[in-house]
Amino acid sequence: MANHSSESSFKIPAVKFTKLFINGEFVDSVSGKTFDTFDPRTGEVITKVSLGDAEDIDLAVKAARHAFDHGPWPRMSGAERGLIMMKFANLIEENAEEIAALDAVNGGKVFILCKFIDIAAAARTLRYYAGAADKIHGTVLKLSKGLQGYTLKEPIGVVGSIIPWNFPTVMFFMKTAPALAAGCTIILKPAEQTPLSALYYAHLAKLAGIPDGVLNVVNGYGHTAGAAISSHMDVDKVTFTGSTEVGRKVMMAAAASNLKPVSLELGGKSPLLIFDDADIGQAADIAFKGMFFNKGEICVASSRVFVQEGIYEKLVKKLVEKAKATVVGDPFDPKVHQGPQTDKKQFEKILSYIEQGTKEGATLLTGGNRVGQKGYYIEPTIFTDVKDDMTIAKEEIFGPVMSLMKFKTMDEAIKRANNTTYGLAAGIITKDLNVANSVSRSIRAGVIWINCYTAFDVDCPYGGYKMSGFGRDYGLEALDQYLQLKSVVTPVMDSPW
Ligand code: NAD
Repeated sequence: MANHSSESSFKIPAVKFTKLFINGEFVDSVSGKTFDTFDPRTGEVITKVSLGDAEDIDLAVKAARHAFDHGPWPRMSGAERGLIMMKFANLIEENAEEIAALDAVNGGKVFILCKFIDIAAAARTLRYYAGAADKIHGTVLKLSKGLQGYTLKEPIGVVGSIIPWNFPTVMFFMKTAPALAAGCTIILKPAEQTPLSALYYAHLAKLAGIPDGVLNVVNGYGHTAGAAISSHMDVDKVTFTGSTEVGRKVMMAAAASNLKPVSLELGGKSPLLIFDDADIGQAADIAFKGMFFNKGEICVASSRVFVQEGIYEKLVKKLVEKAKATVVGDPFDPKVHQGPQTDKKQFEKILSYIEQGTKEGATLLTGGNRVGQKGYYIEPTIFTDVKDDMTIAKEEIFGPVMSLMKFKTMDEAIKRANNTTYGLAAGIITKDLNVANSVSRSIRAGVIWINCYTAFDVDCPYGGYKMSGFGRDYGLEALDQYLQLKSVVTPVMDSPW
C-alpha cells in the first residue's frame, strides 16, 4: 500500500473572488443562486460561488458581442494586444502561490507541481500567443485571368469556451490565450468542480488592461450554463475540452442553433508501447509518470501499457515498487506525490472500475483501495493479465489505474494499440529508430511521444483523432481556430505577367 501523509503547515489564503465576471465586473447571478464548491481533501465546503444559468450566459454574450463589434480589443494592433497579454502573464507569476493554492484546495492538485508546472505553463502560453498576435497575416494570391487577390485573417468573433476540472489553469489559457491574440472576445465556463482560479484570472485580466467585455467568466453547471453557450445564436465559435459524451452534445447544439464551428478535445485511452531493448529504469519512470501524474486525471494518461515479453516481469516489478513508494496525501505537504481525486463522483467511479477489473479477471498487483478515512484519496493501482476486451482496457477511468498487457511483436502491439475508439496520444519506448519511426506512423493518435511521455509544450499542436475529437490546441495551428479566412479579389489592368 502507498504511504499516506496528512501533514501540512501551509496556510491556505482566503478565497477572494466568488461572483460571476461579466463585462469587467464581478456580479451576482441573475437568479441570486449560488452553489457549494468543495475541498477534496475532506469533502467539506470551501465557499459558495454564484451559479450562472442561461440568463447569465446571455448577459455575458451581449457584453462580449458589444466588445467585439464596438470595443477596442479587435481593433487594436496585434502588438498592443500582445503587450497587454504580456502584462497578464507577469501578474500571474506575481500571484503564482495564491493561484496554485486555489487549484490545490479546489482540485486536489499537488501544490508545488501546480505552481511550477500549471501556473508556469499559463504564463508561457500567454507570452507565446502574445508574441504571435502581431504576426497574423494572410497570403498574396497571384490569380489567373487578369485578377489578383489576398487573404485576410480576421478574428472569428465571440468565442464560447467550456473546460474540465482536471487542469483548471492550463485549460483556461490553452483556450483563452490564442483567442485573445486573434482579437476575439470570450465567455468561459469553468467546470463546476473547480471554479475558483478562473475567477482570480478574470480579476488579473482586468488589472492587466484587458477591456471590459473581452473576457467573461460564468460559473455554472454543464447542462444549463454550458448548454446555453453551445446553443447560443450569438456565439460564433465553441471550443470544448471534456468527455466524448458531452462533446457530442456540444456539437449537436452548435449544429441545431447557428452552425457555429466547434473544436473538441475529448477523452482518451492512450497506449504506451515498451520494447525489449528499453532501459528498464527509464521505461518504468516514463510509464509511471505517464499514468499517475495528476492522480491519473489526465486525458492523455498512458492507461494501456503494452510491454514486450522479454522485459515484462522486470518492468512490472519496478512499477509495483514505484506505486508502493508513492506518498498519497495532503497536496500541500511537500512530501506528497499524489493528492485526492477531484470530487466524490470521480472517486466513486474509479473505485467501481477497480472492482470491475477484478471481477472480469484481471490481477490486482498493487493498490485498489481508498487511502485514509476522509477525502477522496486512492492508492496508485496496477492491474496485470489485462485482456484487450476488458472494461478497464477499453473505457477511460480518469484515475490512478494502470492496465499492463504483454506483447510479442511490433505488428501485434500496433494492432492492439489502435484497437480503441479513441486517438488522443501514444508513447513508444525503444532505442531502435526504425521501430520508433514505424510505430509513430502506424498509430492513429494526435500526439506521439518517443522515449518520453506527457511532454507538452505550447509550441507543439495537440489534439485528437477518432472519438478523441478534432481541432488542435497549442502551436500556431491553434490560432487558426479563432480566425476567419477572407479572400479579397481585384482585377489587375495591364499586368505584364
Ligand atoms: P465533462 O464532459 O463532464 O465536462 C466538461 C465541461 O463540460 C464542464 O465544464 C461541464 O460543466 C461542461 N458540460 C457538461 N455537460 C454539458 C452540456 N450538456 N453542454 C455543454 N457543456 C457541458 O468532462 P469532465 O468530467 O469535466 O472531464 C473529464 C473528461 O474530460 C474526460 O473524459 C477527459 O478525457 C476529458 N479531458 C480531455 C482533455 C483533452 O485535452 N482532450 C483534457 C482534459 C480532460
